[in-house]
Amino acid sequence: MAECDHVGRDRFLERYGFERARQYFLYHDGVHYDSKAIIGVAYRYVTGRPLAAGQFSGGQRTVGRLLEHLDFKVVTDEPPLPQQRLLALLGTLRVANTPDGPARHQPITLLWALGRAAHHRPRLVTWEDAHPELRSLMREYGQPSSKATPEFPLIALARTNLWELRGHVGPVPAAHGKPISWLEEQHPSFGLTAWAYELVVSDPSTRAEAVDTLDGLFFDGRIPDGLLKEVGLRRADDTNMTRPHGTSALETYLRLCGEIEAAEARGDHDRMRHTARDQPVRSPAAVKAVLVRSAGRCENPTCTGQPQDVTKNGGPILEVDHVQGRAIWGRDHPIQMIALCPNCHAIKTRGRTAEQLTELLRLEARSRHSAWLSRT
Ligand SMILES: [Zn+2]
Repeated sequence: MAECDHVGRDRFLERYGFERARQYFLYHDGVHYDSKAIIGVAYRYVTGRPLAAGQFSGGQRTVGRLLEHLDFKVVTDEPPLPQQRLLALLGTLRVANTPDGPARHQPITLLWALGRAAHHRPRLVTWEDAHPELRSLMREYGQPSSKATPEFPLIALARTNLWELRGHVGPVPAAHGKPISWLEEQHPSFGLTAWAYELVVSDPSTRAEAVDTLDGLFFDGRIPDGLLKEVGLRRADDTNMTRPHGTSALETYLRLCGEIEAAEARGDHDRMRHTARDQPVRSPAAVKAVLVRSAGRCENPTCTGQPQDVTKNGGPILEVDHVQGRAIWGRDHPIQMIALCPNCHAIKTRGRTAEQLTELLRLEARSRHSAWLSRT
């Protein structure tokens, strides 16, 4: 479960080749886990190698019974909607006490990340970039008796399904140790997990509820206006919140995906265009869908800033790329495509870190696509 929390559900399932659970969930600390996948991977911690999905059957009589025998809770309800999941995870954050009241490092870090999402800033940030911002927020809005130490919440949050820490080698150290030297040595990037980020980006009301939840839990309902302003958030009762891509963008995205899948089924995507070199015919719907999903922002979660320049038509300068490259691209479908600013596109094509970036973008495209689907 900790491994699943750490890498995120989709990545976890993909890593070990399991499907999402349809009926039986392991329910623990407010989170639903795919019961069969957890058992298969738990086996690795005993024997050194995981069980593959085909090696055992899931369901109540096998996996369910085993988990219950170990005193875990197995539930058969549908997992909650992502909104509820986000709010439940926020609601179960551990509140550490200081002489002045609840410690505020975690909520400040989360508010900072929510604010980044609200403004479509890249999901993942490096320690070097985030450290000064977080430290100054903590100095200003943390409890008087707490030191401004952003390293602790970053490490602690990485143990929840809300937060991602990536680009490091080996395990994340314990939050009570000396994480600062680890952060400086490993240079990881961090931020909200892709599903949480997508949700917060696309749904201002969830964002406002998330702020409210943190407010109630850590600030006694009196979250300072200055803090909200500094991280770029508004209160729930502010009605003039913008909707960067609301229901209509979601409808458009789903409609385009439907068209693409129908065209795939007809075999349209197998057609070749005969020019100097044979090239597959690209689906304009797929390009359009990716642009809708991007809301005009480079989808590389580690983008360091896309240009302010616009195209001749006034649109953002974005290039829609097949993550895997033509030779092995499976599908002309948003699940394997990504919108990139010219700089990120160049890094992916010919940069020194092209390989790592491609892997990151492959997972990002999948996560973003599944986050959009999960909103229906
Ligand atoms: Zn970029």
